[in-house]
Amino acid sequence: MGIIYKLYNYELVLNSQKRKDLLLNVTKKFHSSMDVSAILSDIIDALKQVFPSFDVYLLLSHEWEVSDELPIMQLSYGKDKSNEVATNAYLTGKIQIEDIILDRKSVLYAPLRGKQGVYGVLKIMASNSFVFPQHEIDFIEVLADTGGNAIENAELYQQSRQLVEDLQLINRTSHELNSNLRLSETISYMKNQIKMSFDAQEIGFFLFRPNGEFEVIEGSSNYFLKDSNLSEIVTICRRIKNNQDPLFIGDLSSEFPYLLKPLRSFIGVPMVQSGKIIGAVFIVHEYAYHFSFNQFKLLQSLIHHSTLAFTNSMLHEELETLVITDHLTRLYARNFLDEKVQVSMEKDAYGCFLLFDIDDFKQINDVYGHQVGDDIIIQVANILKQNIKNTDIAARWGGEELAVYLPKVDLEVGAIVAERIRKKVSRETSPPVTISCGISHWKQSNLDKSLKTLFNNADKALYSAKRTGKNVIVSFDKDTCYL
Ligand code: GH3
Ligand code: MG
Ligand code: MG
Repeated sequence: MGIIYKLYNYELVLNSQKRKDLLLNVTKKFHSSMDVSAILSDIIDALKQVFPSFDVYLLLSHEWEVSDELPIMQLSYGKDKSNEVATNAYLTGKIQIEDIILDRKSVLYAPLRGKQGVYGVLKIMASNSFVFPQHEIDFIEVLADTGGNAIENAELYQQSRQLVEDLQLINRTSHELNSNLRLSETISYMKNQIKMSFDAQEIGFFLFRPNGEFEVIEGSSNYFLKDSNLSEIVTICRRIKNNQDPLFIGDLSSEFPYLLKPLRSFIGVPMVQSGKIIGAVFIVHEYAYHFSFNQFKLLQSLIHHSTLAFTNSMLHEELETLVITDHLTRLYARNFLDEKVQVSMEKDAYGCFLLFDIDDFKQINDVYGHQVGDDIIIQVANILKQNIKNTDIAARWGGEELAVYLPKVDLEVGAIVAERIRKKVSRETSPPVTISCGISHWKQSNLDKSLKTLFNNADKALYSAKRTGKNVIVSFDKDTCYL
């Protein structure tokens, strides 16, 4: 009896030493490695060494990125009654033991606990109604906790790296946007950043106008620029505007089967400026559940930090358009034309300038009133716009005088354009008016090449046209212009 007792004690000491060594090995690894798979694998190996006849599984609550070689089962709590004990271990964070009398099996469920939560459950199946003694349970508990802490560490590490990346993205974007004022560049920069960081397929930028209209901003990706998608976009914009909330939809086809087909993942974030929603940004993908909740939060931060720069670019551009556009005719203002002629004189070989004046306009005002007079000016301006190329510049010169600058056009072609406009005005205005036109041009070889000369010459030609009976065009030519 004495010998058996001694042997038994010796065996106990030996086993406990082996366990200590195993634990030491696993914890050593835990402190030196961020590799969750390796740690979990060591835990399973340790269990197998101590309990060679037991089956060991890992029930994980998330899709952790761990090696396929581990004996992993999904922990699907709530749905599956047979997993009730595992769920209990997971929810309570305490070891659970289940004796399946029919199968003559004992199953031990040890939660993989970290400091902040439980990440899964270790399932250990012993056959032949093995009864787990307390010291074995303690050993398993220490091992399971090591696994839980390893997962938690890796998760926290991943999270902190993600946070740093997110902050860098926001920082870079804000910095870039604040140093760059053009709206088209702002949009293009944001589009690229979002495409890269969110792997979005299509990105749309929308403005909510004060008159209730929704406008797709140029630079949005093609899907959002298609007219056929506009009504669906408006539906979502209206919803965001009314709810004043961002929208995160994992699968459009189940929640809104009629919207934005065939796209399935959707995030819509409002742009808020001084407490008011001024627009929204949408990102979409054809796969369902493509965007994570963290990405949803990140897009909100990104848009929040970019909205000010975005509105600044917009205001800047609107102001610029206001300054360069004539209010009544929507033609360019005179200073803008001056600038363009100046630039053309520097880089082109020649150019042509047409100065129009409505004939007997005082009379029109007298007979029909100022309002009709204004309307005639608009009609003539529209005829001008429709009869020039988009590289040409039509401007309001002042009062009922309008001008067109044709870069890289000679006097003959200029006269043809002017004649076409003169004819159209006499036929298409109502009440009908006629116009006179003075044409001047410049070329690089001119000694007195200047804006002033170009404009003066056109003025002289126009004066000549008025004197020769109106409703005519006259090209400036020293011989035909009598002063
Ligand atoms: P002419 O054929 O010689 O050009 O005769 P005219 O009556 O057109 O004479 P002039 O060009 O000198 O007069 C321009 C008139 O156009 C004077 C002004 O009352 C009127 N006018 C100028 N600007 C505007 C405008 O913005 N709206 C309206 N309704 N009238 C304008
Ligand atoms: Mg005039
Ligand atoms: Mg006139």
